[in-house]
Amino acid sequence: MKNCCEYLELLYAIWWVGAVAVPINCKLHPVEVSGIVDDAQARLIFTDGGEVFAPDIPLPGCRELDREDMGAFESIASTALATPCLRQADDLAWLFYTSGTTGRSKGVMLSHGNLTAMSLCYPLDVDPVSAEDAVVYAAPMSHGAGLYNFIHVRRGARHVVPESRGFQADELFGLANWLGNVSLFAAPTMLKRMVEQARRQGYSGEGIKTIVYGGAPMYLADLKEALKTFGPRLVQIYGQGESPMTISALSRKVIADRKRPDWATLAASVGRAQSCVDVRILDPQHKPLPPGRMGEIAVRGPTVMQGYWRNEAATRQTLVDGWLLTGDVGFVDDAGYLTLTDRSKDVIISGGCNVYPREVEEVLAQHPGVFEVCVVGEWDAQWGESVVAFVVARIAGTLDEASLNAWFVERMASFKKPKKYVFRSELPRNSYGKVLKTELRLWLKSSANDTRVP
Ligand code: AMP
Repeated sequence: MKNCCEYLELLYAIWWVGAVAVPINCKLHPVEVSGIVDDAQARLIFTDGGEVFAPDIPLPGCRELDREDMGAFESIASTALATPCLRQADDLAWLFYTSGTTGRSKGVMLSHGNLTAMSLCYPLDVDPVSAEDAVVYAAPMSHGAGLYNFIHVRRGARHVVPESRGFQADELFGLANWLGNVSLFAAPTMLKRMVEQARRQGYSGEGIKTIVYGGAPMYLADLKEALKTFGPRLVQIYGQGESPMTISALSRKVIADRKRPDWATLAASVGRAQSCVDVRILDPQHKPLPPGRMGEIAVRGPTVMQGYWRNEAATRQTLVDGWLLTGDVGFVDDAGYLTLTDRSKDVIISGGCNVYPREVEEVLAQHPGVFEVCVVGEWDAQWGESVVAFVVARIAGTLDEASLNAWFVERMASFKKPKKYVFRSELPRNSYGKVLKTELRLWLKSSANDTRVP
């Protein structure tokens, strides 16, 4: 489903009867949606009209209910339990599907306890919430924006789905002016578009209480513009599906204090560990490193997932000795500020959406004219990053962009489609035969004359 008021009603109805919710991004391709529904072993699916499933993937034992079929909804409601089914902290609540780097989508198992811990941390580390607040769902409710509903339900705040059911900066400003005390979650690219629109219409944040940004790197140049436009309304969070929205936070005060001599350093960080988690930097042998040393970021605490659904092997690799290995690389300074330097999992974050190179490669590699393919991210002023595919054709000169694009959109969500193809006679490899992605990234950077502010 796209964002709608019923989304929240359905989530709470699911938990009322003691079931588990599997929110699915409505932008996914029917093949991907069917794969998730199948893997999750879902019994009941709520849809919003349209062709959401792949016709050739059978989903036995699974019933579909369309939002437009109110009769069916009411018949289900009439059989509801009179009282909610009691749940324990470690009972499963939400299966959060990330795209797997190995090609198979993984269901992050979030328990009721995980979601409670996340909700309790928010007012301490991110932003206090009151009943006068209005949370606006501009980003998909299947992800971070939707997770923030709990915090606002706890406080009896207002919940608002824009009429467009998505993200439109001018609509958002109108709502903020009208409702007041608005808070929302926005990926950095959304914030960038809000700044552009605000400048065009002379708006400076009236009615907005807080914009929580995160999910992808925020570049300093963009942050400065956002501060100039909206003032002290920004808070940053760093999290991942496996510890939802809750690893670190950079406070409104630090972000807004441009006079601090260390402002640029702190603003480029993702802040300090949130109250309920411990954060460590690990070396390749999983030994903790001292401040200033770079390594893999690991997290421990009550927000950390229970594991991956029906995927023991991936769980064992990711949860080690009680610590979640995030796959992100960074360092912590003496004051506890965490800075992300790289993403070891090679994920491309385009417009706030994660694109895993491997899954794009899998689709393109199936094209009969493709001999080899390698996908990397390239810095992009509008989207943060965009997808670039390096392609080696089976027969040189026989492949073109149009045929690769046509092949791709038949099989995968179009937001994952490469924005650019670079045709090569071969791919650079190391002595083990592995493609050197770093070399391809460097080549893109030098050929594009990258002027990014770190
Ligand atoms: P997801 O599991 O889809 O929420 O993606 C999580 C990943 O997004 C993290 O592992 C990071 O690589 C990235 N990420 C999340 N928050 C931030 C942030 N504030 N700054 C930079 N990258 C971030």
